[in-house]
Amino acid sequence: MLKGIPVSEGIGIGRAYIIKKTQSDYENKPVENKESEKTRLQKAIQTFCEKNEELAKRMENSSVAKEAEIIRGHAVMLNDPFMISQMEENVDTGMCAEAACESVLNMFKEIFLSAEDELTRQRAADIEDIKSRLLAIMTGTESNLLSELPDNTILVAEELTPSMTAEIDKDKVCGIITEKGGKTSHSAILARAMGIPAVLSVPNVLSKLVDGLDVIIDGEEGVILEDPDEKEKKEYIEKLEVLIEEKQIHMAFANRKTITADGIEKSLFCNVGKLDDAVTAVEKSGEGIGLFRTEFLFMGRDSAPDEQLQFETYKKAAQLFPEGEVIVRTLDVGGDKAISYLEMEQEENPFLGFRAIRYCLHNTELFRTQLKAAVRASAFGKIAIMVPLVTQVEEIRAVRALVDTIKKELENDGTPYDANIKIGAMIETPAAGLIADILAEECDFFSIGTNDLTQYTMASDRGNSKISYLNNYFEPAVLRSIRHIIQCGNRAGISVGMCGEAAADPMMTPLLISFGLDEFSVSPGAVLKTRCNISKWSKKDADKVTETVMKCKTAAEVMKILKYSQNKYPF
Ligand code: PEP
Ligand code: MG
Repeated sequence: MLKGIPVSEGIGIGRAYIIKKTQSDYENKPVENKESEKTRLQKAIQTFCEKNEELAKRMENSSVAKEAEIIRGHAVMLNDPFMISQMEENVDTGMCAEAACESVLNMFKEIFLSAEDELTRQRAADIEDIKSRLLAIMTGTESNLLSELPDNTILVAEELTPSMTAEIDKDKVCGIITEKGGKTSHSAILARAMGIPAVLSVPNVLSKLVDGLDVIIDGEEGVILEDPDEKEKKEYIEKLEVLIEEKQIHMAFANRKTITADGIEKSLFCNVGKLDDAVTAVEKSGEGIGLFRTEFLFMGRDSAPDEQLQFETYKKAAQLFPEGEVIVRTLDVGGDKAISYLEMEQEENPFLGFRAIRYCLHNTELFRTQLKAAVRASAFGKIAIMVPLVTQVEEIRAVRALVDTIKKELENDGTPYDANIKIGAMIETPAAGLIADILAEECDFFSIGTNDLTQYTMASDRGNSKISYLNNYFEPAVLRSIRHIIQCGNRAGISVGMCGEAAADPMMTPLLISFGLDEFSVSPGAVLKTRCNISKWSKKDADKVTETVMKCKTAAEVMKILKYSQNKYPF
């Protein structure tokens, strides 16, 4: 049995198909005619961009439509004038086109790899993808085998690149295993988008599996069985049948209210990054948007989106949910989210640095533009404003003061807006958790960001796989914090939501019901499963389990009880 990081749930039973790296060998001899070599380089870049666009278009017509932008990003990277000039300078020194581009792309890869944060480091995989495709074009060694795979294929690769995924036929591929990559790598994002079970970061898997070998992959447990025997096959076929059955059960929860077993109504919202995701949220029966990660509107561009563009986006999102709220989180830049044109300085500790609300309150022009767009959009639906990374009550006061001046301006101009637009805080730092009673007096709502709350409470970088064992919201420290935050919100009579990943975890559901969480915000794909899980628990049963859990001293004990109660309370 092999183990890795589970990143896309589901079970795959099939045969291994090993993706070997294409060797694009070339003869590295000095060139005589530098101009014609530069022309060859430019032609290869042009061909790359054309093929890239073809791939992106193909992706747009598939289940990974939204990820086509990742592929388009490759052409943007390769067309960077600095990158091209470096390659041409290399040719001027006598290097052939292949060597010129390989050396520059290796240099960029090193730069990414030396970055502080995991997300930037993972962009090195994109550079590697660009390099091997560009070299294959130059050497005429392109291969295209992924489009012709047999049924029940389990792909095994060093790393699944975005361009490879564009070729994958998800009806043929039932599992993905890689040697590299983590939960936030492109391999993981794409596998989840395609709904293919995936286990990544499996040490030396390429040397442990061979082409055609029977393999079972469990994308929930992160387990791979090589050459399983009949008993193991039977066991996993049964597991798979249960999963398929569960999916069918979840379908019955579409277009329903979200209600506990004893009739308490909850709000079930979605986390989105773009307007497209909001459309998916409607399709998946989400009741509103609990977290609009607006930084995605600012990414992949040369300058910040203007007020009108932001207004149109928030307005359209609000109109998609005539009943439910759309909670616009203000720009959460910094930490692991870099936006090049904002020219933020390199910092020793970016996660503890000049980011999110801290940055926005010092860049008021940019911030006012966003707030004004959101306030204007409030005339068209239930828009709410949510402030990320709050640590002091003054931050909420400052946002409220800005919103008040914006409201006055709009009033003077005769522009409509919702006078009662809500302003809330993301509770995702230990500081905000500890002063939740104070914040509750000045906020209209809370939303608990368990991803950051866990990383800051446990003092463990959420992207660092070496300490991922600490990044666990079942740690008693995190659970106590969550309970306290919800209690403070409840006492003050404001709505408390949760938009971190924990909101969709079925093991968390009884605790959240017992603590009194009002709103769950999950990725669109998790709506039906979450609604189903909430429907299984009455407050009384949830309280019983929670009482025991809150006496536990370790996360391991907590998880054991919650796992057991999952099986005990399918009702
Ligand atoms: C969180 O921190 O829990 C959260 C939802 O926000 P993000 O993951 O965007 O930091
Ligand atoms: Mg956060």
